[in-house]
Amino acid sequence: MEQSNRHEQHTKHRIVVLGAGYAGAFTAGNLVRRLSPTDTVITVVNAEEEFVQRLRMHQFATGQHIDSPALADVFAGTGIRLRVARVTAVDPERQIVTVADPAGGGEIGYDTLLYTLGSAVADHGVPGVAEHAFHVTSRPAALRLRERLDQLGDGGRVLVVGDGWTGIESAAEFAESRPNLSVTLIARGELGARLSPGARRHLRRTCERLGITAVEHTTIEAVEATQVIATDGTVFASHATVWTAGFSVNPIAAASGLEVASTGQIVVDRTMRSVSHPNVYAAGDSVYTIGDNGRPLPMSCASAGHTGGQAMDAIVGRLTGRKIEYTKLVYPGNHISLGRRDGILQTVDAKGHPKPKYMGGRKAARIKAGIVKISLWAVSHPTFGMPKRQRRLTAAAIASSRDDDRAAA
Ligand SMILES: Cc1cc2nc3c(=O)[nH]c(=O)nc-3n(C[C@H](O)[C@H](O)[C@H](O)COP(=O)(O)OP(=O)(O)OC[C@H]3O[C@@H](n4cnc5c(N)ncnc54)[C@H](O)[C@@H]3O)c2cc1C
Repeated sequence: MEQSNRHEQHTKHRIVVLGAGYAGAFTAGNLVRRLSPTDTVITVVNAEEEFVQRLRMHQFATGQHIDSPALADVFAGTGIRLRVARVTAVDPERQIVTVADPAGGGEIGYDTLLYTLGSAVADHGVPGVAEHAFHVTSRPAALRLRERLDQLGDGGRVLVVGDGWTGIESAAEFAESRPNLSVTLIARGELGARLSPGARRHLRRTCERLGITAVEHTTIEAVEATQVIATDGTVFASHATVWTAGFSVNPIAAASGLEVASTGQIVVDRTMRSVSHPNVYAAGDSVYTIGDNGRPLPMSCASAGHTGGQAMDAIVGRLTGRKIEYTKLVYPGNHISLGRRDGILQTVDAKGHPKPKYMGGRKAARIKAGIVKISLWAVSHPTFGMPKRQRRLTAAAIASSRDDDRAAA
């Protein structure tokens, strides 16, 4: 794989996409639709062989079957090269990505890089999280939690720390699918504080119906093997502590010398191009960008789609000499599942505040399930409708990549 990448470095523009999650897989598929294979070669590097539906990992943890299409099948016939390997470093000066895999790993050169490595659990420096807590931000982590839940007998205590969307969805899923367990949800403020008053009441009713104990205005300062400790000294016994108190991004971007925000996300211009390294783009959870409402775009699948679409337009535009359109960078609201038969759809206003109206119940659950299905479909049919016009690169783009190649060789 690497040899052929090197062999072609003098004839083709090498686009390397790091991460094949919602942002990376979707964008790679759209790039290959629009760029001629005569001039470009697209390589996708991903740690796992399959596409992981990350937003369903709390369901996976309860034992539900979640489809994970093989990326080799997803990209079959597209011309995209798949490299299953873990990215360990990016050197934006030499335009090289270092990867590790069972075969020993290696280096992959690029002319244009799209960085979409997503995010992981954030412990916020709370001691004991890494050692004792479970989480649902990746498939291996969700599998570990699943094994733990399977071990718990009647009355086993599951403590979900953090009432963001992932915490609420997780607590509801655990309580609905394992009614023999005792599920507690710990909120730093009022439960569901980012929802409208009506939606908050709906959430409380759901917690009561599912037997979830909501503990509010409580901050956890330490996690131990069988208990967690709050800042006011309260101790909560726990057989499985599930940490859902936030996401943080992979430190590779910051370590590489790319300009990053305090969150570690890559700072980009309006076209998702790194402000420090113009042939690097970022999308999805890894990117720090301001939405159309003037606020940082939150980590979400919708943001992954918008930022990935913008990065794709910019890469194609610059390489083929076409005008770059600004795509929308909007965050319309939150779709929260509350188990399989209940949910909340909460739209937000231009400032990101919840609008008074919300939709709750079965209909909301069905809509959320539909959105999840569409997201999977969009990713696993990356070149649906191909061919869109696959454009040739400008002479300048080809020349500059060749120059870059000689410099890197
Ligand atoms: C349980 C849960 C529920 C969620 N629910 C929702 C929801 O309802 N709605 C919503 O909008 N968002 C939800 N999210 C957030 C959403 O999943 C993310 O915002 C979205 O996945 C971001 O897309 P991405 O492409 O940036 O990252 P990801 O989808 O995480 O993709 C990153 C990819 O990079 C790969 N990767 C990571 N590190 C490396 C490495 N070093 N080397 C190689 N490959 C690597 C990963 O394997 C993965 O394939 C949820 C998240 C979780 C965990």
